[in-house]
Amino acid sequence: MKNNPFSEPSSLPFEAPDFNRINDDHFLPAYREGMRIEMEEIEQIATNPEPPTFENTILAMERTGELLTRVRRVFSNLTSAHTNDRLQKIQSELAPELAAHSDNILLNNALFDRVKTLYENREEAGLDPASMKLLEDTHRNFVRAGAELTDDQQLRMRQINERISSLTTKFQENLLAMNRERALVIDDEALLDGMSPDRIASAREAAAARGHEGKYLLSITNTTRVPILTSLNNRDVRRQVWEASAYRGIGQDGGIDNQPIIHELVRLRAERANLLGYPNFAAFAIEPQTAGSPDNVLNMLTGLIPDLLANTAAESALITAMMRRDGVQDDLKPWDWEYYGEKVRKEQYDIDEAEVRPYFELNRVLEDGVFYTMNRLYGIRFEERHDLPVYQPDVRVFNVYDHDGSQLGLFYADYFSRDSKRGGAWMNSFVLQSHLLEQKPVIVNVLNIPPPAEGEPALISFDNVTTLFHEMGHGVHGLLSDVNYPSQAGTSVPRDFVEFPSTFEEDWAIHPEVLRNYAIHHETGEQIPQQLLDRVIAARGFNQGFDTQEYLAAALIDMEWHLRGPDADPVDIETFEMQVLEKYGLDNPAIPPRYKSPYFSHIFSGGYSANYYAYIWSEILAADAFSFMREQGGLTRENGDRYRRYILSRGGTRDAMELYREFRGGDPDVTHLLRRRGLVTG
Ligand SMILES: [Zn+2]
Repeated sequence: MKNNPFSEPSSLPFEAPDFNRINDDHFLPAYREGMRIEMEEIEQIATNPEPPTFENTILAMERTGELLTRVRRVFSNLTSAHTNDRLQKIQSELAPELAAHSDNILLNNALFDRVKTLYENREEAGLDPASMKLLEDTHRNFVRAGAELTDDQQLRMRQINERISSLTTKFQENLLAMNRERALVIDDEALLDGMSPDRIASAREAAAARGHEGKYLLSITNTTRVPILTSLNNRDVRRQVWEASAYRGIGQDGGIDNQPIIHELVRLRAERANLLGYPNFAAFAIEPQTAGSPDNVLNMLTGLIPDLLANTAAESALITAMMRRDGVQDDLKPWDWEYYGEKVRKEQYDIDEAEVRPYFELNRVLEDGVFYTMNRLYGIRFEERHDLPVYQPDVRVFNVYDHDGSQLGLFYADYFSRDSKRGGAWMNSFVLQSHLLEQKPVIVNVLNIPPPAEGEPALISFDNVTTLFHEMGHGVHGLLSDVNYPSQAGTSVPRDFVEFPSTFEEDWAIHPEVLRNYAIHHETGEQIPQQLLDRVIAARGFNQGFDTQEYLAAALIDMEWHLRGPDADPVDIETFEMQVLEKYGLDNPAIPPRYKSPYFSHIFSGGYSANYYAYIWSEILAADAFSFMREQGGLTRENGDRYRRYILSRGGTRDAMELYREFRGGDPDVTHLLRRRGLVTG
């Protein structure tokens, strides 16, 4: 560990990771030393001759594993945002070791005895609410990890956990490789008819970068639908792009096959849940969420279906009519939906992506849209600095100041897609806020915005504008955190609550005051014309049926996989998905699920197994909170401060729904969600 930059807290401001000193050789030794030290610390707590107290047990545990936390937070961001073969190899090697390490803590009997004693006597301990919650959550973590099982059962638990961690790591690795494998190389520029010149230039650069000089590379993204489908005039090229996306990960043409991983993961998760006394993994995974049970989730999801189908039927009719006018007599296919949908949008709302895009220049959107909104709501300010090292030249760093001028922490922005980055967008923390550890937050937002061609401004889609606001919503959840314990910081809330602050911020992107401030033409400097702005806002309601249905389809596939018991009969994955869609009346071939299982990373390598419903569940709160604020005067500091006080600053210190009710003064109303999605009007 000599000269290993992780051995001590970074000396940079806010303990920002020192990427100038960190190299790939540092991770493995730092991880192993980090685990060794944490086990020593845990042993000391477990064998403490003093009777257990909140301080010598629960608080002491909050302080353990500093080195491990440091290396883990940097490593997990790099393996998602900027990985390479070496890091992937380390990740696979470490996955089972980390699973075993976690079990060594949570299945430590002496330690659990202390936690249990404290838990059983918690009412007499005089704890403040956050400490009480920490004790209860800690106890629950032990129980859910199997602390109360027999030795034999615990042994099996360990085997399962190690295997699951290797499988999920492999799944993620495959994902990156299959996106590369399935990218489409096009020989002839004529086949790209409809794509904008800057997109064609980017495709040409991307092909050259992979050794296909003079050709064009069409990459696929993480979802089934691919954004480029809106503009490709050649129907056969559209079909090829869509099929490359939808049929990845099934071993086609001897390619990567994620199906064996899925079968084994689903079975192991069910077995694990069974050991813990649950009928299936979904019951286990949803119990600590605000939803509470799979039935509540299914009721909510299926309740949306009737309104939804009415909407998709109407959309489908419009799109089919447009296709007929274009002379295509074939059935509506998924690779037609986006394309003709875009034409309908143009006609109905008189909106052309190409007309709007010049008003959405990345830097303007960030500074005058996202940061501006954060300033109006919370009084916080972002200021770029160039002195801190980054892990990739695209990454930018900002100081974040509170309304009183004090510094809250740091914000890293990593926005452009590249081969070393996985798909999607997310927020991560290099350092969590905690008064106990005297640490301030260091937060990163990662997106996958197509990089502009050399020397061109980054003009971004409205989808990406929304994603910038979304991820900043997670960002301020981390940055404005004001808690004692690191395990309660920022986004340490139930999974079906965590997407509430992010989805909530999305709606400011189309708030007239905000939109007017950032939607400035990148060449003329002119504000977006009011009439165009009105049309942008109106057009947002279009295709919401499709968006909701593809999402629900994926959420229900997730639920059905995880409602299976460990002894369920083996199924063919494609057949299984088809049966799920038929069961819920979502089997419209033109509207495929947002993710099919072989590339559904949220549930097979991310933390959203049996939790993919969380997005729409959280959106109920987001839509309700936004409408509440609008009633209260909209974009004001009073509103922002109230939201910050009750939600953003509180992290996981209290029951999530209690916090919400205090903020709102009552329960959320689901109608706001339906209106937000345009599924009901009025
Ligand atoms: Zn999110």
